[in-house]
Amino acid sequence: IITVDKVVKRWGSFTALNEVSVSFKEGEVVCIIGPSGSGKSTLLRTINRLEEHDGGRIVVDGIELDNDTRNIDAVRAEVGMVFQSFNLFTHMTVLDNITLAPQRVRKWKRDQAEAVARQLLERVGLLAHAHKYPSQLSGGQQQRVAIARALAMQPKVMLFDEPTSALDPEMVNEVLLVMRDLAKSGMTMLVVTHEMGFAREVADRVIFFDGGRIVEEGDPEPFFARPNHPRAQAFLSQIK
Ligand code: ATP
Ligand code: MG
Repeated sequence: IITVDKVVKRWGSFTALNEVSVSFKEGEVVCIIGPSGSGKSTLLRTINRLEEHDGGRIVVDGIELDNDTRNIDAVRAEVGMVFQSFNLFTHMTVLDNITLAPQRVRKWKRDQAEAVARQLLERVGLLAHAHKYPSQLSGGQQQRVAIARALAMQPKVMLFDEPTSALDPEMVNEVLLVMRDLAKSGMTMLVVTHEMGFAREVADRVIFFDGGRIVEEGDPEPFFARPNHPRAQAFLSQIK
């Protein structure tokens, strides 16, 4: 569903993505790990054009990310993203946060958008909080709202960039549980994470980044048991 072919992203003379080639199949859950500054976020951000790539090709569900803004809009409508900092609209209720984009972009009627929002809030366990503002929720609750908001657009792919890194430890699990359910439901997911337990259990494939390149890629079980690349070995020995 996503093809990344020899993608290059530079910041001045610094190369953040160095001819990265990888593809993702429909329904696949892929965890992306690697040291700080290795290009993990940059990869996710180029896939929905929050950053423009300088070389190579990115094709999402048959749509090429080029300079055609119609293509960019089409890809963004299919790709949901959840960030480390929840990025909710603070002046809007939970329900309004979730119903805004479907009404504006999908042109749904308020009633329809609200019905879908309520289903999603139920799914993430927050139906009782529909009329609260983000500041009235815990970090874990806010992140679950952010996931519901992304899902309301009925994306084909969900990108997660360290969704639990900003959370207090006791709230990490409630967010991982929602993500695990989503993975089980067949959603295509690309997840940058430091949660190795989640990667091991939920991922179909693990990708290890270092210095703007994918240096190792494979099934989680052999990867975590016997990483081949020295950087992956060093990284895993630090965090285990
Ligand atoms: P982390 O684990 O810390 O989130 P990462 O693997 O997600 O790291 P990226 O955010 O993709 O790393 O960044 C890759 C490199 O690109 C870093 O060296 C970073 O400093 C650089 N970079 C990212 N965004 C910009 C920017 N807007 N301008 C200049 N350099 C940037
Ligand atoms: Mg990052």
